[in-house]
Amino acid sequence: MRVTHLNIQIHRTAPSSTPKRDALQSLPGSGSVHVEVITDTGITGVGEAGFGRIAGGPDVLAALIEHELKPLVLGQDPAFVRGLHQAMLAETEYHGSQGLATFGISAIDTALWDCLGRMHGVPCWRLWGGVHTRIPAYAMVGWLNYDNEEVQAICRQAVAQGFRAVKIKVGYPTLAEDVQRVAVVRKAVGDQIGVMVDANQSLTATEAVRRGRAFEEMGCVWWEEPIPADDIDGYAELTRALDIPIATGENLYTPADFARFLRRDAMDIVQPDLRRAGGPTALLQIGSMAAAFRRPYASHGGGPVQLNVMACLPNALYLETGLLAPDSPLRLEEGSVQIPQGPGFSWE
Ligand SMILES: [Mg+2]
Repeated sequence: MRVTHLNIQIHRTAPSSTPKRDALQSLPGSGSVHVEVITDTGITGVGEAGFGRIAGGPDVLAALIEHELKPLVLGQDPAFVRGLHQAMLAETEYHGSQGLATFGISAIDTALWDCLGRMHGVPCWRLWGGVHTRIPAYAMVGWLNYDNEEVQAICRQAVAQGFRAVKIKVGYPTLAEDVQRVAVVRKAVGDQIGVMVDANQSLTATEAVRRGRAFEEMGCVWWEEPIPADDIDGYAELTRALDIPIATGENLYTPADFARFLRRDAMDIVQPDLRRAGGPTALLQIGSMAAAFRRPYASHGGGPVQLNVMACLPNALYLETGLLAPDSPLRLEEGSVQIPQGPGFSWE
């Protein structure tokens, strides 16, 4: 089997007039880039990378894929997906493989694995070897721009859908406001529902310890990205100072970043993003490395790729998703969702 074509499509979306907000940024959305790998057997595979912000992001990424990555993949056998992953990292090293390059590598890596799954007629987790048939899921619903009534309503809606944990944004100007937010949500969902808190890199390490102690006392499940993502010394300090698990990883790039954090005991919950990690090949490496360090894996973002990966990880803890749309293929049962059964990364 050889790759004969790689189609690149830009999907632009108009920015939302009511963007979601966290302590770091406003997220109006700006579209995505879709890639389709076509082979000489007629079997195809798809992958994509989306942007929560940066209006020009999809155009720049499409150019990077077209001019830098596509030439490496054309004519190659998708069965050598890990080799192609290495080749794409080597090619982009000159300007830096971390950043936009991993978005492109991720989209192509996803499409190649999708192709292999479809060739064998099985979901990718069956190629890799499974552990779980269901994965616990939580709903990231508590955006910073919601007022108290709005956040209570959406958290109740998540619980009504069957979620047993919700995540909310914090990182208000003061500790008192953060504490009040958690209390408001706790009042809405009751004592049996897990509450995660996420400050999106907005605090100093000293302030993160102070607020972490408060969240610890309030029984929060984890304390996510309290300080800038690359501050490895700060994260090592936080995991030592606090009992509440520190979750981070969505803004780290490639397995090498995770290796450094794990060696320094700078993360309790390992939370990679598909695009920034560099695709399923990288997620599998990060997940296995985390398992060896006895650290749980929680996805940043949901979707069939993360679910296929988590199905194979003994340390899979939680899938992240939003509220389930009426047409969502996910079905919650006792707070967990089923793993996909379709070939490649398709649902069924
Ligand atoms: Mg986060």
